[in-house]
Amino acid sequence: MDSKPQQLHIFFFPLMAPGHMIPTIDMARLFAFHGVKATIITTHLNAPLFSKTIERDRQLGSEINIRAVKFPSAEAGLPEDCENLNSITSHEMSLNFYKALSLLRQPLEQLLEECRPDCLVADMMFPWATEVAGRFGIPRLVFHGTSFFALCVVDGLMRHQPYKNIASDSEAFVVPGLPDQIKMTMLHLPNYVREGSKNELSNLIDQSLQAELTSYGIIMNSFYELEPAYSEHYRKVMGRKAWNIGPFSLCNRDTEDKSQRGNKPSFDEHECLSWLDSKKPNSVLYICFGSVSCFSAAQLLEIAMGLEASGQQFIWVVRNADKENDDEKGEWLPEGFEKRMDGRGWIIRGWAPQVLILDHKAIGGFVTHCGWNSTLEGLTAGVPMVTWPLFADQFYNGKLVTDVLRVGVEVGAQEWSRWIDNKKVSVKRENIEKAVTQLMAGEEAEEMRNRARALKEMARRATEEGGSSYSDLNALIDELRSYRP
Ligand code: UDP
Repeated sequence: MDSKPQQLHIFFFPLMAPGHMIPTIDMARLFAFHGVKATIITTHLNAPLFSKTIERDRQLGSEINIRAVKFPSAEAGLPEDCENLNSITSHEMSLNFYKALSLLRQPLEQLLEECRPDCLVADMMFPWATEVAGRFGIPRLVFHGTSFFALCVVDGLMRHQPYKNIASDSEAFVVPGLPDQIKMTMLHLPNYVREGSKNELSNLIDQSLQAELTSYGIIMNSFYELEPAYSEHYRKVMGRKAWNIGPFSLCNRDTEDKSQRGNKPSFDEHECLSWLDSKKPNSVLYICFGSVSCFSAAQLLEIAMGLEASGQQFIWVVRNADKENDDEKGEWLPEGFEKRMDGRGWIIRGWAPQVLILDHKAIGGFVTHCGWNSTLEGLTAGVPMVTWPLFADQFYNGKLVTDVLRVGVEVGAQEWSRWIDNKKVSVKRENIEKAVTQLMAGEEAEEMRNRARALKEMARRATEEGGSSYSDLNALIDELRSYRP
């Protein structure tokens, strides 16, 4: 007899950052499609970013809803309207943001008390969520939002500390104990690892790794066939309980879902799609560096020059073109650039519907910062990549793309760096031109494209009935139904 005949109710609690909220919303929708009642917990200013999508799902019969709590901006010394990591502009602000996160514990407890769900899926950045779920006698599942590969590399680095014996920060070392020979340098690692120092972020990450050990398990936005050796390594060598149920982005089936995902596009997406319709298959490059990273005006200029010299057609998304880069009129562009690129290239200032664009058959390459969502979205669309990692887990994901899956080329980014240095150019125009040309028209371009296409097929099969992700999701739901503390 089923011990819990009533509908399973799960709380989903994402970190307030697009790279965590977007996949968590997709994940909650996926559970709801599978008959689970899903409640997404967020804050007042973040809720409108996805409320339309949720409303549409509800009209189609999903039991899914949003509960908004107050974000403690003032208490943490942040501006009133700062509720999302994408509005953080300095290291100091980010420390306050992490402080604010710990103040969300009490409102979460209140909602748990009121709704008494059966399970809490909480972001890795809320390490205290394991203890909170324990108090209510329910399992806490961790959502990391990265690859198995990245988690295995971090574990190998922490366990063996191979960087202890190197002569310089740019000397390559092999990360021991992994299924493949993965080489890194000290420069690829976060500065708190490099400096051996502690700060709010490194403490939070330490706590989150600890909380992972006592939580019920981990949900991964990945699929078994993508990184089988690392999925096994994570479970068998590292001994963690994990379910891979991705790629989550595939739950966005129609144009409306894809164009509203994450935010409102800052331009007419239909015009962009018609432009893409007029292009040959695989002939346009898509360039985007995620939702929180920024470049200096000098670096943007190098990108523009590199793109122009490559002769390729492109769509280039420039986030905060009018703010961080100090210039509303786009003077970071070379003189007459947009005129010369008329018909050949588009610059999107602001937010682009990334999955909608990547899925278009005209897109033949993706210059990415290797955030895990973007990486997986590129792979799911079958598009080879130029990897340009900046910080967080991006250097690890980049290695997966180029060294393990062999569906990309490196642009040559050398150093982990979170904040922009106004004068700094980390990748020169010649390197950009070279990587882009190699990706779109080089000797190995076709092979990379074929491998990427095969991964696209595998991703789709994994999420269809009987596929690995589909089965893992059902197995998890069944297990949660019979959970007893
Ligand atoms: N994204 C988007 N349009 C943009 C910028 C980003 O749709 O203009 C989405 C992208 O599809 C992905 C997420 O934002 O789902 C970014 O997550 P990722 O892990 O790639 O990078 P992060 O922003 O966390 O660095």
